Amino acid sequence: MAIKITDTFRHQGMRKKLCDELRAKGIVSTDVLQAINAIPRHMFMDKAFLEFAYQDKAFPIGAGQTISQPYTVAYQTQMLEIKRGEKVLEIGTGSGFQTCVLCKMGARVYSVERQRELYDYPPKLIEALGYSPKLFYGDGFKGEPMFAPYDKIIVTCGAPNIPKALIDQLKPGGRMIIPVGMDDQIMTLVVKDMDGKITSSEFEKFRFVPMLPDKS
Ligand code: SAH
Repeated sequence: MAIKITDTFRHQGMRKKLCDELRAKGIVSTDVLQAINAIPRHMFMDKAFLEFAYQDKAFPIGAGQTISQPYTVAYQTQMLEIKRGEKVLEIGTGSGFQTCVLCKMGARVYSVERQRELYDYPPKLIEALGYSPKLFYGDGFKGEPMFAPYDKIIVTCGAPNIPKALIDQLKPGGRMIIPVGMDDQIMTLVVKDMDGKITSSEFEKFRFVPMLPDKS
């Protein structure tokens, strides 16, 4: 059955407040704030949890996974400096919320998820919202070589290391944002220069669900 999108003035008001909060926490990109302001985050969670949908918190979405905290989504997206038309690879589709934020910013999104349970609902919601990213069921450690190289790569689960396949799939001049670590993660920005040289810089600590090895 098709998903019906409900987005009332109340939802829009709550979302605007969330964006004000993100701005107060240091998110300055108007492109990022506008995108978050446009995506009905409540639709990504069970109706019973409306009051949580616009709090700046991560939330469980089933299969032991979470929808990322809005601040984390905003922070990672801002770091990527997305421009319209860029090809972006996302590892960890999860709820599909981050995917929609990237689509709203005009990116051509390729997103990989390793859990079947999560792979079923998000595509229907993403489509109902009017976006058409390419979604894959697979192992993010391998990236998605078929459509490589990518202008930008975003990893939305905690990676034990920076997978070599992802560095290989980044375009010269490209940027990757990846949380690296086991218990908590250091947000790491990897930049590939035009000669293919890699520079990485480390930022704040975050806590993500772990990037899990391939099931097969
Ligand atoms: N971007 C999501 C974040 C979801 S949490 C959102 O906006 O809601 C991280 C997701 O990464 C989970 O759905 C988890 O199943 C997925 N994941 C974990 N290990 C993975 C791997 N090796 N490859 C692809 N996805 C993975």
